[in-house]
Amino acid sequence: MSESVTPAAAFELLAAEPRMDIMQALVDARREGETPLSFSALRRRTGIDDSGRFNYHLGKLVDTFVEKGADGYGLSYAGSAIVAAVIAGAYTGSERKGPVDVEGACELCGADLAAEYVDGDLSVRCENDHGLFVTRFPPGAAASMEMETLLEVSTLRIYQRLELAATGRCAECFGPVETNQTTQPLEDSEMHVYRMECTRCGGEWRASAGSFLTFAPEVVSFFRRRGVDIHHAPPWTLIEGEREATVVSEEPYRLQFDLAAGDDRIRVVLDETGQVAETAIPD
Ligand SMILES: [Zn+2]
Ligand SMILES: [Zn+2]
Repeated sequence: MSESVTPAAAFELLAAEPRMDIMQALVDARREGETPLSFSALRRRTGIDDSGRFNYHLGKLVDTFVEKGADGYGLSYAGSAIVAAVIAGAYTGSERKGPVDVEGACELCGADLAAEYVDGDLSVRCENDHGLFVTRFPPGAAASMEMETLLEVSTLRIYQRLELAATGRCAECFGPVETNQTTQPLEDSEMHVYRMECTRCGGEWRASAGSFLTFAPEVVSFFRRRGVDIHHAPPWTLIEGEREATVVSEEPYRLQFDLAAGDDRIRVVLDETGQVAETAIPD
């Protein structure tokens, strides 16, 4: 999309039925491997008989959501992104799944866990209502998934978001992300949390520091060599030693974990954005 189009103007461009029909026709054609489409082929698929009227609406979309190349019309990058968001988010009525029993126990009280999805909100909670994993997931995408798949996909999505945020970028708009760290009291111990905020779209995420271990290559491979897959481990399960992290430096912020897999140990220090600053295998 050209820089001169404001978000409000972009939404306005789509706020006409024939334009959504054109976008839908381009999606269908792309899925069928038929893009780019010629002017007449696109008009046929859209079902708008009046060529002048069709041309008017198509003209409004070209250079923003629709790309015109030598061979015809297709979705632009912005067009693809908006269509993907609409397909994933499409409201399918009241979408509800679960509660479904989930393996593991509450890290706070030891009670059994259950997962539930209600109209966009996915959560894993214990019987005492400790929310161990709370996230949003688009209903149009959730509708076709079993709870197991939904949990798997949303777990990976969270980790990918955090990985991008740790490198300083927002997974939604790719704007710069600012990160700060807090320590929260937790029953008889404490919990280290990173809070990330996108300075462009205002998106906000909070994640326990341990979540950042799940995509740190040194840590993942240490555990993988010992038969443990932490990269796909759900966020409500813990690695031995994860809860006992220590802030070893405030300025710059350094958070140290002494993790264990059986008899083997690894020391991992995260920096202020959740990236690995150093690792060591203690003697
Ligand atoms: Zn609990
Ligand atoms: Zn953003």
